[in-house]
Amino acid sequence: MITRFYQQIGLRFSFTNIDNTFSEKKPRYRVISGGAAASAYAVTVLPPYISPVKSLKALQTAGSLLESWLQPGSGVFITAEQVNTILDFVESEFGLFSKVLAGYDPVFALVDCCHSEFNSEIVLLHNASGRGILRHFVFNIKPDAIEEVTPEYVFFHELGHAMQIEHDETLEAFPESAVETLLANGFPGFRSIPLYNQQEIFADMMSVGLMFHSPYQELNPFTRLLEPQHQEAYHLLVKKLLEPDK
Ligand SMILES: [Zn+2]
Repeated sequence: MITRFYQQIGLRFSFTNIDNTFSEKKPRYRVISGGAAASAYAVTVLPPYISPVKSLKALQTAGSLLESWLQPGSGVFITAEQVNTILDFVESEFGLFSKVLAGYDPVFALVDCCHSEFNSEIVLLHNASGRGILRHFVFNIKPDAIEEVTPEYVFFHELGHAMQIEHDETLEAFPESAVETLLANGFPGFRSIPLYNQQEIFADMMSVGLMFHSPYQELNPFTRLLEPQHQEAYHLLVKKLLEPDK
């Protein structure tokens, strides 16, 4: 039964199947929602198949994790239309789609519930030939974060993580060339904080740079916390990181 279960989810939800539905036309990305988005998240969390007995145990663990993570939606959520508009914006302003995202056949999965830990999550997978595949899961904003953040800012923040992945080809680093700007623009203690927090700050500051002087600027909570000249420094840093010879 377990083997059959894995065969079934492999047939119905494997990322390979999703990838095969990409058209050759630009833009090469997909926005999925509803049951397809929830299934894509579940499949990402499920453990790989080992053996009927071991996999049953691992599936039970994954099932309880999913149950504990996912809660009813808060209703504060980004729409597929907003995602398309933001992707058009970052492409026309920065070439971000063609320079960063296009290489990863990204799927943006709008999961209509709250996650107990994240407002969104980016996952870097690799296909059989080693090509990086980006899965960007967007959840409803957590009830305790609604006062602080907007769905648009959360989406830009994840684009910041995508820039970091593109630069370092892993989630376990961040661009060294960004450190000087961070030290001089609001984060003098940047070097002494843990890597995870460094990556979060980097993604946040990329969101500031991408949203600077745009219709989105006021939706970024950091615009109330950072001096305008610091915000501009991050705008310039985004452009520098996206230059061909970065
Ligand atoms: Zn983050």
